[in-house]
Amino acid sequence: MAPLARLPVFLALDGRRAVVAGNGAGVAWKAELISAAGAAVDVYAENPCEELHAVAADPPRGAVALHDRAWQPADLTGAAIAVGGFDEDTSARHFAEAARTAGVPVNVIDKPAYCDFSFGAIVNRSPLVIGISTGGAAPVFGQAIRAKLEAMIPRGFAPWAEAARRWRAAVQASGLAFAARRRFWQAFTALAVAHPDRAPAQSDFDALLDKVRSLATPADAGTVTLVGAGPGNPELLTLRAVRALQSADVILIDDLVAPEILDFARREAKKMLVGKTGYGPSCRQDGINGLMIRLAKAGKRVVRLKGGDPMIFGRAGEEIAACRVAGIAVEVVPGITAAQGAAARLAVSLTQRRDARRLQYVTGHGENGRLPEDTDWKSLADPAATTVVYMPKRTIAEFAARAIASGLPPHTPAVAVANATRTDETVVSGTVANIADKLDQTPLAGPVLVLIGRVFEDIGARAGALPRRARQA
Ligand code: SAH
Repeated sequence: MAPLARLPVFLALDGRRAVVAGNGAGVAWKAELISAAGAAVDVYAENPCEELHAVAADPPRGAVALHDRAWQPADLTGAAIAVGGFDEDTSARHFAEAARTAGVPVNVIDKPAYCDFSFGAIVNRSPLVIGISTGGAAPVFGQAIRAKLEAMIPRGFAPWAEAARRWRAAVQASGLAFAARRRFWQAFTALAVAHPDRAPAQSDFDALLDKVRSLATPADAGTVTLVGAGPGNPELLTLRAVRALQSADVILIDDLVAPEILDFARREAKKMLVGKTGYGPSCRQDGINGLMIRLAKAGKRVVRLKGGDPMIFGRAGEEIAACRVAGIAVEVVPGITAAQGAAARLAVSLTQRRDARRLQYVTGHGENGRLPEDTDWKSLADPAATTVVYMPKRTIAEFAARAIASGLPPHTPAVAVANATRTDETVVSGTVANIADKLDQTPLAGPVLVLIGRVFEDIGARAGALPRRARQA
């Protein structure tokens, strides 16, 4: 898991006691918030302001008691949380120290140095609650995100979330297996999204249960889903890929998959790295297939997560065949292949009408790690083709030499892109005659593509005009 700036926790304050000290509208708002969360709030303020009186007279949930005096350390004993509002640093520190001595988590409004926790921005569809934190870095940003979420999540979700709570025990006791219960909640969520304007009824519950019962497969057989993770930038994942990652039991991960992608995976899913890094023995593929089949046969929903698109140089064919032989349902979720990611970043159309009649993806890495013997050099020599070489690192010099020997003009532009779409993307441009030497001088770490063709003519000339992340060597 990536480092987390703050741990979001959702405190159960029902029937607990909270201490609020200080005066003013900001303090009154916190008293109201904490009362709304169910706590009994003791407010300590000399000459409480109008807003505090108003909250005490009409608290949203837990009682709010006003004590017309300054707080004392003894007031903090046994409190679940403490919130202070003090302009002066000395008062703030004094309060925070007393709370910490009493073992009570404390927040002093607008004084992060004296806070054990922060409130963040809230979207309230109770029992569905969303808290947004920027770790104090940019509260305005947090507020803007809150506004977006408010717009996105209909108010009508509250009764649906409430119904989910009511129905939880009944679903648990329904006799449905784990996977079927999850299908119930997926169908429930789909219904809520479709009908936020009305509250769910008992008939919805019955219909959902019937639907899931009729769908349940005898042994809740496992499945395999080959998922394309795209070239690296997580924003290039498809919605369907995210959904598959969210409902996986096990994720078998290729080494080309960028780590950020896994932030979208279900937390509880078991994640296994099965990459064949570089030029390892190819029999490892059998091992991966075997593992995948064993897990699916044990009833797991297996996601096989591959860089780019699974169907492009991803050995998907062998994995699909293994599933078919084993009688396991297999589905494929396409991804953006590296060539498309690179083309987008370079802002070059791979099939520009004037310059390209054909687009071809070729591999620079055959069995044994050499150039495949049966490569069709005639089509690679076509000056009106755009060629994208996958896995070019070891063989690009020989590749270029043979393409030129077969008739490709040596001055044909060639661009190498490493880590396309990632933050560490690097671009080296040249011609088919010199690209291998350039790559020797500037060895690129990470996956590299070489793109060749007239469509890249002006890449060398527009160093400054490249998209923001791309750099020219
Ligand atoms: N299925 C993948 C390709 C797998 S073959 C896809 O569709 O993209 C592995 C090769 O893909 C690497 O050697 C490299 O040539 C290319 N590749 C994958 N991701 C890349 C990236 N982010 N930038 C550049 N090349 C990449």
